[in-house]
Amino acid sequence: MREDVLEASVVMAKCRTSHQPYGIRIEKRRNNTWYCTWAFKLSEKSAGNEGYGSTMISGRVDVDPEYPGCPYCGGNGWVSCGHCNKLTCYNGEGDSFTCAWCGNSGKLQSAETFDLSGGGY
Ligand SMILES: [Zn+2]
Ligand SMILES: [Zn+2]
Repeated sequence: MREDVLEASVVMAKCRTSHQPYGIRIEKRRNNTWYCTWAFKLSEKSAGNEGYGSTMISGRVDVDPEYPGCPYCGGNGWVSCGHCNKLTCYNGEGDSFTCAWCGNSGKLQSAETFDLSGGGY
């Protein structure tokens, strides 16, 4: 682990094209910003078993340059649903999205701070 990492966690997201879940490793660095550093495939079952989604992460969230993107479609970002607060992958195109969790659709809003639910790492 890098020495400027203060905390690390994993948050759950879903791919908007395959609707499969994945985990995003997220770490808090000394500048008080959370960085997404890694993404990996999950099954819904293992996601539940490992308790991802049980702690809240709040603050500024950014994407590390080494973040590989969604493991299913390669989308390099994600959006946080205003309805269920869960994450759906996003590839930077268009100005609207459909949540892969609850089906809510709406306009994208750019936000620099988020409340995410993550799990112990
Ligand atoms: Zn995806
Ligand atoms: Zn949603």
